[in-house]
Amino acid sequence: MTRWRMMRKLIAKSLGAYSSQVAIMRVRYLYARLRHLLSVPRNDENLLLAQYSAYAQQIPLLYFVLLSNTWILAYTFYGVAPVELSFYVPAALTAVCIVRFLEWRKSLSRLPTSDAAFKALSRTNRLASVLSTGFSIWAVSLYPYGDVDAQAQIAFYMAITVIACIFCLMYLRSAALTVAIIVNVVFIAFFGLTGRPPFVAISMNMFLVTIAMMVILMVNYRQLTQLVSARDNAQALISENFKLANLDPLTELPNRRQFFAHLDREFERAKLQGHRLAVGVMDLDGFKPVNDLYGHAVGDALLIEVGRRLRDACGDKLHLARIGGDEFAVIGADFGCERELIAAGNRMCDVLRVPFFLHEATVHISGSIGFAIYPDHAEAALALFERADYALFRSKRNHRGEATIFSSRDSAQIHRDVEIEQALHSADLEKELSVAFQPIIEVETGRTIAFEALARWNSPVLGAVPPGLFIPVAERGGFITKLTCVLIEKALDVAVKWPDDVHLSFNLSAYDIGAAASVVRLVSTVLKSGFNPERIDFEITETAIMKDVKEARETIEILQSLGCGISLDDFGTGYSSLTQLHSLPLTKIKIDRSFVADLHVKPASHKIVRSLLALSRDMGLGCIVEGVETEAELDELRALGCTNVQGYLISPPLSEKAALAFLQKERGPRAFAASANTARALIA
Ligand code: C2E
Ligand code: MG
Ligand code: MG
Repeated sequence: MTRWRMMRKLIAKSLGAYSSQVAIMRVRYLYARLRHLLSVPRNDENLLLAQYSAYAQQIPLLYFVLLSNTWILAYTFYGVAPVELSFYVPAALTAVCIVRFLEWRKSLSRLPTSDAAFKALSRTNRLASVLSTGFSIWAVSLYPYGDVDAQAQIAFYMAITVIACIFCLMYLRSAALTVAIIVNVVFIAFFGLTGRPPFVAISMNMFLVTIAMMVILMVNYRQLTQLVSARDNAQALISENFKLANLDPLTELPNRRQFFAHLDREFERAKLQGHRLAVGVMDLDGFKPVNDLYGHAVGDALLIEVGRRLRDACGDKLHLARIGGDEFAVIGADFGCERELIAAGNRMCDVLRVPFFLHEATVHISGSIGFAIYPDHAEAALALFERADYALFRSKRNHRGEATIFSSRDSAQIHRDVEIEQALHSADLEKELSVAFQPIIEVETGRTIAFEALARWNSPVLGAVPPGLFIPVAERGGFITKLTCVLIEKALDVAVKWPDDVHLSFNLSAYDIGAAASVVRLVSTVLKSGFNPERIDFEITETAIMKDVKEARETIEILQSLGCGISLDDFGTGYSSLTQLHSLPLTKIKIDRSFVADLHVKPASHKIVRSLLALSRDMGLGCIVEGVETEAELDELRALGCTNVQGYLISPPLSEKAALAFLQKERGPRAFAASANTARALIA
């Protein structure tokens, strides 16, 4: 029994301790909640600023209502109550309000930081409690001096003023609640304790209305926070969209669209203010092979690093953008003289020459840049960009890895290219195009092993145009495939008349090997011609291969499956990596003529040719040296072990008839009868 009682006691004690702990926790929670409701929220910067600006708009109205109501009440009690109460106290409170109002007006001229807004609103909070206490105590202290009507006016003053103040403080919840609590406590305590039924009823009314006001206040405040957060989300979405539309996601540099918009703006400004404007277009050399060899992830990492280096190199003076895969562009409104522009461009090229140590590999690339300047080179923004692009084209051709400025020579060339393009468009290709044939001989025997087919164009408008001029224009204009088809048909028509051991070398452009449709057309033309495909060597330049190694490889494999040979033309002038060339199924290399001129007196050329010959031997490839013009060069090449040569010394490019005569002279007429028989057999 005693034990049972002890247990009950213990349970009651622990239950009591538990419930008092719960009660303490509840009180703590309520206190924390009240503190939270009565203080300015610090963590949401945007909410703070929104509260600040919403409240700032209500301040004049707040002080107007407060002070006008106060002075109307003061007027009622003037002469009735002591002057301290009817004048000095309201005057002192008014002075505080005016000082505070002027403070606000001063700070409104500038947009506050969230910190400043927090401080200002917290001050308002504190002042709200001081002023509401001050005004409430002042109002109730007038009570003993008035008659019933005047006392009713006090109640009315307090009720109406507190409602107006809560309205004005609607967006500053903490201050509104503070005012509501203080005024209500004073009001209800004072008028409730008077014991006079109308005043007790008014206190009840006041209490109920204030509760309703508080509910409205809380709902309103919640709506404000929701509105601010919705606005923030919309703002974040807008800035994300802006980023997507204007920034390159990889390098985070401005993209092509932003670049041209910026160019238009800067161009208009330069025109209006009469200052110069430079545009630069940069292209990376060797990026595509990195992408093909190591994959897109490495390519992306490389581009990010390129963007970072270029950004550092450009500094503030040049506006940098990524306008394409491996194309970047700059706009410089304040670039100084041309020398400084070139120096800035060269700095951009220099930073790219430093090896890139990426996770997966160390890669080497370079970049070339072309500049054009307004008003020197163009009168419109787009034309300025195109001129810079042309300067880049020249930079890549003649000064790879350097900066170049558009020149008057470029201007003449553009003019000439336009003429060529127009003439090519209206040309009767069948009639105007012809093929010349330059023999390729075996050094040891002097025997012709092949002829290289070289395009000739005799335009009725422009006269004879060399292929070095019209082929690039046709490539850029997108109609090179049409030319290639006409030329190969003509070349094959002639080649079928040659002896069986004489090959045909035919040049293909980058565009011929890049488009599936043109490869198919090429193959069907070869098959239709009756010429043995094994006697055709297609010449492709290094630069054409490097444009897209993957596509080049596919085309080479198709042509090889027919039995055709593939020669790498102008070897040594490109910027390809040996590893990549080695991986392609090539059959021959043609050493560019620039290394051959005077190689017997130029040690550098001598060394290059010697190593290229050794390289071709090591790689198991045939080798032809182009552009042999003198006996001395030929002797030197012979001494170096060169097996095949081509050049003016042996023969210039010949017409169809002259090429046949060349062969007949070398071999006699009987060699031709045999070849005609083979061709007939193949067609059958
Ligand atoms: P390539 O394929 O390297 O052709 C050799 C060029 O060197 C020819 O110029 C030829 O006339 C010239 N040449 C040959 N021997 C000598 C020499 O001893 N000294 C000098 N200084 N030059 C010599 P051509 O005919 O003006 O052709 C220029 C380039 O145009 C060709 O260079 C080739 O890249 C391109 N080309 C010519 N015909 C065609 C074609 O049918 N299709 C394509 N895609 N390109 C062609
Ligand atoms: Mg060639
Ligand atoms: Mg060549």
